[in-house]
Amino acid sequence: MIDYLIVGAGLFGATCARVLTDTGRSVVVIERRGHIAGNCYDENWSGCYVNRYGGHIFHTSSKRIWEFVNRFAEFRQYEHRVKAQFQGKTYSFPPNLTTFDQIGMKPGPEAEQRIREMFFAGYTTKQWARPLHKVSASVVGRIPIRYTYDDRYFSDRYQGLPEYGYTRMVEKMLAGIPVELNTDFLSDVEYWRGKATKVIYSGPLDALFGFEFGALGYRSLRFETEMLSVDNYQGCATLNYTDLHIPWTRVMEWKHFGWHSQPKGETIITREYPAADGEPYYPIKDARNTELYARYAERLSELPWLMVGGRLGSYRYYNMDQVIAQALAMATSQYE
Ligand code: FAD
Ligand code: UDP
Repeated sequence: MIDYLIVGAGLFGATCARVLTDTGRSVVVIERRGHIAGNCYDENWSGCYVNRYGGHIFHTSSKRIWEFVNRFAEFRQYEHRVKAQFQGKTYSFPPNLTTFDQIGMKPGPEAEQRIREMFFAGYTTKQWARPLHKVSASVVGRIPIRYTYDDRYFSDRYQGLPEYGYTRMVEKMLAGIPVELNTDFLSDVEYWRGKATKVIYSGPLDALFGFEFGALGYRSLRFETEMLSVDNYQGCATLNYTDLHIPWTRVMEWKHFGWHSQPKGETIITREYPAADGEPYYPIKDARNTELYARYAERLSELPWLMVGGRLGSYRYYNMDQVIAQALAMATSQYE
């Protein structure tokens, strides 16, 4: 009998596993996929780290979270910068004073309306399969419109990339902790429950209850990665495509994330296509799903041996630092 079975080797599971192990609990981690690190998983391709599930930039305003991740990886300073393309022209993004200059309008409500049409309407409709006004303001509110020349994608105090990738970082977080890959908790809940006093689950909440009340809504993505025989494809790490008729939303060119070793004469790019089906990446926070989530959360309160968290378990559009913060709070609540 172990103290904690942790379901999912993403950042949520790995953080819980580390903290509980460090405070003397016995822990086993199981992971459905054939690799650790969840959606941050990356691989070294010709010296650049390529994320399998979309580009991941670490950013936080919390010194505590920054210090926590720095225990497991050397972080290289990196500030993400993105450009946006509309009708074949490329603009500074998130919208800032340079963008107002580029569209030839004075900053103000009229220019902001134009910016919504150019940069948010098409992209958001593609990403969420619904018009801009039907998408929660908190989603689009992730992107600021700035009345300064600051063109960084994130304005957090601490930003960077783990020098040797996220997979290596999570490997260090899980050092000395047994991890069983290709193991699905839901294929034998009773068996796994019998092995541990408590279970911490970071998979989808609806799946945990056999979709008893119906499936929670998610948006997914399809990634198309290719190697091109050129030194430089787009000149920046991320180019957003905001026209509705272009089926992808953005292209990552991994060498521009500034890795220490850069391939010559070749470059790797990944196109992101929004999709209805596939891995559940983005929770769709509408009235139906909010109510459905509340019903599942109520079922959860009947099971004191089970704790649930992470982006999927909480059904929240969490960034990496928020998932780590949630895991630290959950794990420390076990002994404080
Ligand atoms: P996950 O990483 O999803 O891990 C959960 C794990 O549980 C998975 O490995 C899964 O296989 C496993 N699992 C699920 N069910 C079971 C089961 N039944 N049995 C066993 N294992 C199971 N955040 C940022 O801070 N910066 C970014 O730049 C950024 N970019 C992103 C880009 C994209 C395209 C996406 C989708 C997300 C991005 N995020 C970013 C968010 C970030 O990915 C998440 O905050 C973080 O990875 C969530 O960690 P997690 O452990 O909660 O979930
Ligand atoms: N968004 C947009 N145009 C862009 C970039 C983002 O309309 O060029 C909107 C879109 O609705 C998106 C949201 O802002 O889902 C949040 O963007 P972010 O880049 O944070 O999305 P993520 O990286 O999480 O996919």
